[in-house]
Amino acid sequence: MRWRCSCKAGEPFSLSPFLPFFPHSPVRAWSSARFTIDLPPGHRFPIGKYAMIRQGAIAHGVFGGSDIHEPERADRWALELVHTRRYVDAVVEGTLSPQETRRLGFPWSEQLRERSLHTVQGTVEAARDALSMGAGVNLAGGTHHAFADHGEGFCVFNDVAIAIRALQQEGRVRRAAIVDLDVHQGNGTAGIFADDPDVFTFSMHGAGNFPFRKEQSALDLALPDGAEDSTFLALLAAHLGDVLAAARPDVVFYLAGADPYREDRFGRLALSLEGLRARDAHVFNCCQRRGHPIVVTMAGGYARALDDVVNIHTNTLVELRRVYG
Ligand SMILES: [Zn+2]
Repeated sequence: MRWRCSCKAGEPFSLSPFLPFFPHSPVRAWSSARFTIDLPPGHRFPIGKYAMIRQGAIAHGVFGGSDIHEPERADRWALELVHTRRYVDAVVEGTLSPQETRRLGFPWSEQLRERSLHTVQGTVEAARDALSMGAGVNLAGGTHHAFADHGEGFCVFNDVAIAIRALQQEGRVRRAAIVDLDVHQGNGTAGIFADDPDVFTFSMHGAGNFPFRKEQSALDLALPDGAEDSTFLALLAAHLGDVLAAARPDVVFYLAGADPYREDRFGRLALSLEGLRARDAHVFNCCQRRGHPIVVTMAGGYARALDDVVNIHTNTLVELRRVYG
């Protein structure tokens, strides 16, 4: 089946004044998988997936081991471009209140702090790669439920928001688009950029999924429970071109959540493995045709079989390399 794309053939694209034409150099990736966290028995978060994504990417020949780098800790100044000083202090010093910890969904630990800081930097580095090479990848990140003053839903810091603010601060971009196709609404991101016309927040998500009180993105498309490939892909194709035309981004951030999958434990949509792969291909083709640098983050994924989660994320990487080189 083919979906009509709202990118019209022959439509003139205005390339960002910030960016020279980039050749399609080989993409590299950033992984903070070594910074894992010990979770209580029965905890719902599949922390093991990050090491498996790294292994999967190598096993499928998407990246050589030497193409995958480990990020340093994010800089304090970058965190505070988005988050309040109080909240950053609370995460760094381990003084989150019991209520804040419950909302976050993770017990605080030094491991959590380290993982969070390194993962944010992975997205900052991937964003710099996108500007110099056309595409950048963090094999983690997409922590879109983190707000300026608190974390929730397994999201400590908002890596994508921090990367955008850091690049703006460095004068490397002015405008950005966020294409958030995780099954959960990017509520933290929507809140952070609510009053910023330079950052276009686009979220497609399950209407019945967390968060139950949604924020307002620049464009929200909420799908009913059980929506399948054809519904999702038709809606995406109908809107993505218009989103990019309206956003006129210097860089696009893609949250390639694996949780719209029909076997996901939390997600209420019903996409197939093939449908998710077609979703990724559509995003990459649409962005590449318009000359947009793209930053890919993994976001959520909670399928019953962890192998499925890893396959979905690996397919995203395969499609990225197919389109962006
Ligand atoms: Zn999610």
